[in-house]
Amino acid sequence: MRRPVIAGNWKMNPGSLDDARSLAAAVGAAAAEMPDVTTVVCPPTIWLAEVARSVRGGNLHVGAQTMHFEEKGAFTGETSPLMLAGLAEFVILGHSERRQYDGESDEKVGRKVASAVAHGLRPIAAVGELADERRRGLTSEVIDRQLRAALAGLDRILGTGLVIAYEPVWAIGTGDAASGRDAQAVAAQIRAILRELDEDGAEEVPIQYGGSVTDENAAEFFGQPDIDGALVGGASLKPDAFAAILRAAGDPRRSA
Ligand code: PEP
Repeated sequence: MRRPVIAGNWKMNPGSLDDARSLAAAVGAAAAEMPDVTTVVCPPTIWLAEVARSVRGGNLHVGAQTMHFEEKGAFTGETSPLMLAGLAEFVILGHSERRQYDGESDEKVGRKVASAVAHGLRPIAAVGELADERRRGLTSEVIDRQLRAALAGLDRILGTGLVIAYEPVWAIGTGDAASGRDAQAVAAQIRAILRELDEDGAEEVPIQYGGSVTDENAAEFFGQPDIDGALVGGASLKPDAFAAILRAAGDPRRSA
């Protein structure tokens, strides 16, 4: 049995440290009620240390939204894996917004995943097709390419703490979520590729669905055999909705 991992990607929100503290406190209270779910919040880098300090000792884990693969150097504005160690347990890598706006190539994502694992961080490696790629029937080709590139620097999966997020780009922030059935088909493809690379390791990897997950549709995803959680953007900023998503992950048969 894989433990569900629900991660809130706060993106560039909230706008103040006080609001970040309040949001973390509210999510921490909800996470405390769900001991069988791994709940993660990924605040902006500037709030990371304070959020990590404020939730210490509870059932809430902290993740970064990105990182550089190098430990140090002339990389203006970047954060090194050494800086995250001790503050963050997880790090989102290859999010489509980083791929789109910050030149995060498949190759770079692979270097980041390997670096995260080498530094004891659990990567949440995001893969997903664009709307146009979906229309052209290229979804499985894109997933295959992005996933293999993301894992190219790992010599094994077992014990790395790897998480994969399937996030169709057309579903992110649009209110147009994938169906549970379509998301499961891609999650099964991801699991098959993981098995090819590391038979035992593949079974322990939580595969998340991400893209307009809400308290209303979450249960549909968590009921799928290869989906073990969600990467949540917009709804992670609403404590009540996020708490309902956690409850659905704790018991996928219960309606959120
Ligand atoms: C995301 O940012 O990874 C995401 C899935 O956003 P949203 O839930 O708002 O679609």
